[in-house]
Parts: sequence; C-alpha cells; structure tokens
Amino acid sequence: MVAEISARGEKAALAAVRKAHEIVHAGRGQHRITDLTKTSFEDVRSSYFRLFVPVKSERMRLPTSLPEFSEFRHHAALSDSPVTAAATLGGHWSEHNLAAITHVAACNFRCSYCYVDYRLLAGDHARRTTAGEIVTNFVDIRRRLAEDGQWLSILRVSGGEPLLAPDLITEVHQELDRRGLLDSCMVKVESNLSALPYSYGRLDRNSRAALRDVSPQITLHATLHAKPGERDWPLVRQGLALAVDLGMDVYPAIGGADWTMADMRALFDALQSVARGLVHRLAVRPFNLSYAERHGRRPALKEAAGRPPSLSASAAWEVLLQERTGDFYLARPRHVIGLR
Ligand code: SF4
Repeated sequence: MVAEISARGEKAALAAVRKAHEIVHAGRGQHRITDLTKTSFEDVRSSYFRLFVPVKSERMRLPTSLPEFSEFRHHAALSDSPVTAAATLGGHWSEHNLAAITHVAACNFRCSYCYVDYRLLAGDHARRTTAGEIVTNFVDIRRRLAEDGQWLSILRVSGGEPLLAPDLITEVHQELDRRGLLDSCMVKVESNLSALPYSYGRLDRNSRAALRDVSPQITLHATLHAKPGERDWPLVRQGLALAVDLGMDVYPAIGGADWTMADMRALFDALQSVARGLVHRLAVRPFNLSYAERHGRRPALKEAAGRPPSLSASAAWEVLLQERTGDFYLARPRHVIGLR
C-alpha cells in the first residue's frame, strides 16, 4: 500500500514537471518568460528584467560566509552571489552587488512561502522570447546603468523554474560568450532542481553536450523545497546529482523553518552521498520573508519538533556539522569549497 501511494506520488510529481515544461517551451527555439511589466515586482526595468540588490543589511541579507560577517551567520540570510561573482570576475564583492533577474514563466512546485504569484507560475502574463533577445535587453540595461555609474555583472535566471529550460540557460551563456561578455558578466540560476532530469532527458545529443560544456560556468543556487522522504524528494535528489554530474557550481539551500533534527540528519547523509562538499556549502535560511503574494497561504511557522526552541535551524545544522566534520556553519566562503 505504501509503495502504491509513493508510486502515485511520484507520478503526480512528474506530471507537474511535464505540464510546466510544456508552458515554458514555446517551440521554434523560443521559451516563455514572465512579462515583468505586468507584475507588481519592485524595480522592473523591462519586460525581461527587474533589478535586485543581493546584499542588503536592512533586509538582513549578508555574505555571512565572509569572516567580517560571520557573527551574523545564525541571524541573517546568507546572500553570497556577489562574493562568487567577485571570485569569478575579479574585484571586490561590493562591486557586484546588483543582479538583473528574468523569470521563466512556470514552475512545477507551489511552495506556500513562494514570493511569486501562483498565476505567474502557470504561465500568466508570459511572453515568447529567445536567449538572444534576453541578452540584448540585459546589455541595454547594463549600458544605461553604466551611464549612471552603476555596475551590473550578474544575469540571474529565476522563475518559475529555470531548469525546465536548461537549453535556455545554455543559449544565454553562449550569447554572452558570443558578445565577449563572459569576462565581465556571469550567469546565475535559481532552481528547485526537480525538473532537471526530465528536461535534460528531452534535450537532443548536441544540446546535452552544449549544456555540459557551459555547466562549469553556471552558478546554480538550488533551494531544496522537499525533505528526504517527501513526495518530491526523489526528483530533487536526482536533479541535484545530475547538476553535480554536469559540473554545475552548485550552492544548495534550505528554508530552515520546519526542518527537524531528524530531517537534517537525513539531508546530511543524502547530500554527502551526492558530493562531499555539499554539506559545507548548504545555506540554512531563516525564511522569515514577508512578501505580499504569500499572505494568507503560508501556514504558521511552528517550532520544529526535535530541537530546542532557542536553537535556530542554522545553529542546529552547525551542531550536526561539528559532530560529523568538526567544522562550523559557513566556516569558509562557499566558492572555495570543492564539491567532490
Ligand atoms: S520552487 Fe521556487 S518558484 Fe517554484 S513555487 Fe517553490 S519557491 Fe516558488
């Protein structure tokens, strides 16, 4: 009976991926992204992009993997994409503290805490586009910002679920390369990982090879929205293993509100079984977000059973890390930690 329920669950999870995949793929090499001018996101600059400042102290988003911010590692949400950008492109992280975000127009999940309106995750206000158009728009925004003395180096593909369209990620990277921009720009992808095995399986041989080719230059920030044992976990784990196998630079994260110590132990073992460095790269976020879109659909956060109320989720993870590896949580900047 349990096996039957779990087989039914996996089938439903895959059906959700298929449906979202269909929305995102518009045919003839085109993909669907959300037309951001029709949304209520802040700092929308065009149909394609909105701007975002990753490190913002008043929102408690800090690069807490750096020694100077380490004391905040259990209180602030780790935000280290500018640090990774500086390591890749040169300069100080503060010079890379601006990202242009484009949103793929569907997601196979419906997380209760998602900051995106669910209608946008089902293709509402979508527009067809190509990687060439996306990069042209990015370059245009970048030029206008430069005229105002601002530096834009991070092109972030979010959503929705970008890995419903790994071919789009490949093409965006290739477009930047074609225009000679890879020494001053990087591609960051935000994903739930679960769609990658299916999407990858739909690519032809050449597209798979091209994805493998660009993967080491793709920074993949992956939030694990399912726990080991839950319905969506098998797809998330498979997606994680495939991303590592492709050579993507993977930075996993969890929203730590309701993970028990038992969940975390199971996660620790699962991450280590994929790649040993993942446990040192895991970000445990407080998830005390307050986006208007989520009001009314997020269940009240309960103190997770299995750990004392005073122990934050990241502190619980640190206990586990010390027990198993002797290391502190975020002891080093994550990009210096090898995955394998
Ligand atoms: S996976 Fe991300 S985009 Fe999809 S519903 Fe969850 S939080 Fe939202």
